[in-house]
Amino acid sequence: MADVKKIKELVDQKADKFVGVADQVWSTPELGFKETKSAAALIAALESEGFTVKTGLAGIPTAFEAVYGEGHPAIALLGEFDALPSLSQEAGNDVHTPICDGGNGHGCGHNLLGAGALAAAVAAKDYMQQNNIKGSVHYFGCPGEEFGCGKMFMARAGAFDGIDAAFTWHPGNLNNVWGISSLANNSIYYHFKGRTSHAAASPHLGRSALDACELMSVGCNYLREHIIPEARLHYAYRDVGGSAPNVVQDHACVNYFIRAPKIKEVLELIERVNDVARGAALMTGTQLEIQIAAGLCDYQPNDVMSQLLADCLKQTGAPEFDEADYALASKFMDDYNEAEIESSVASIKGVATAEEFEKIKKSPLTEFILPYVRTNYAMPGSTDVGDVSYCTPTAQLATACWANGTPGHTWQVVAQGGSSIGHKGMIAAAKALALATISAMEQPELLEKAHEEFVKATGGKYVCPVPPETVPLLD
Ligand SMILES: [Zn+2]
Repeated sequence: MADVKKIKELVDQKADKFVGVADQVWSTPELGFKETKSAAALIAALESEGFTVKTGLAGIPTAFEAVYGEGHPAIALLGEFDALPSLSQEAGNDVHTPICDGGNGHGCGHNLLGAGALAAAVAAKDYMQQNNIKGSVHYFGCPGEEFGCGKMFMARAGAFDGIDAAFTWHPGNLNNVWGISSLANNSIYYHFKGRTSHAAASPHLGRSALDACELMSVGCNYLREHIIPEARLHYAYRDVGGSAPNVVQDHACVNYFIRAPKIKEVLELIERVNDVARGAALMTGTQLEIQIAAGLCDYQPNDVMSQLLADCLKQTGAPEFDEADYALASKFMDDYNEAEIESSVASIKGVATAEEFEKIKKSPLTEFILPYVRTNYAMPGSTDVGDVSYCTPTAQLATACWANGTPGHTWQVVAQGGSSIGHKGMIAAAKALALATISAMEQPELLEKAHEEFVKATGGKYVCPVPPETVPLLD
């Protein structure tokens, strides 16, 4: 059995280095597929630890794999490092104070995610070296999680082939292993082309692409009534055809996200939305081009690997916060209303006891670990970890890196992800992930069981949710 104390020590010994990488990525927040500096910081740290790095996976410059050791068991750790636009914020400040107006910020805590997975990979490597453990640890640098579906492109290119199991984590407000799924999602651009004309002098000669977009939205709003309630349709105009009301718009584009609990359901729903778009084109006498921009699978937790990871988290422990952390977290929590706090604990209804549930809602920070429970709850968001879960048995945990009630994708996450609260959550995650990596390597029979479950749940063969002509939107 893996030596828990030793693994914790190995993470602690290099904790300053790992926190340094997290802060470095935090201070250069870059958007998906443009994470040049962030990827470079992670690669430099991995190379300095003796990992061999291959870059440019799936044709994406910032996608990479860093390997230590060889052969099986081959365990993957997934790291993300992309930021979000317009969320610039000072670290540790509970008052909205952008460092740079309109600048990017790590509003999903991916600076911690990437560096925490790195810390786990390095500690696992150190433990393998000291204890002569055979196998390989693979750190995957996964760019463009937020809008780009980087892991989907990596999965399609075969990056995860030959991996026996994958572990990852996400910063959050709780300490647990995900027994929930997430929604599958496809992003589609509907481009309409019409004919321009003078909107007053000769409107009968024009065919409006903007009208087509609007009629498509009307159609989709009726469609909502007749789709499964868990599905989500949302849209944004990408091209409104110009700014002059007196010119009939001959081009317009609307971008839809189509989400549902299973990728199969998304693919069925796409056909119905496409029909609505075709109807809109027919009504307006315009031409339609449908472009699938990206897509990702639902997350399928592997129970065998998730239970192992949960056991490891229990042994390595939740983050321990001090008075200053509580004081800072309280300031953030004071700003959240009941609905926000309720929403931040929605995923654990039925998992936490009523007592634990109330405790979380009242305490600024969570310092206890919830048990692993597989539920039917699908997180009403999406993650491209889903695609990895269709390639290999996958498990992911969360640790408390911000105050209870903090909504994702906000400047409040940026502030806390650059503070000691985030750092402590990250180090706690790294210890559990490192222990799980070694424990999986030491128990090939468990990996076999995980594989059996994986084949049963997914069919054992990754089916990419987008057609071959869909390529990463690098610009
Ligand atoms: Zn995220």
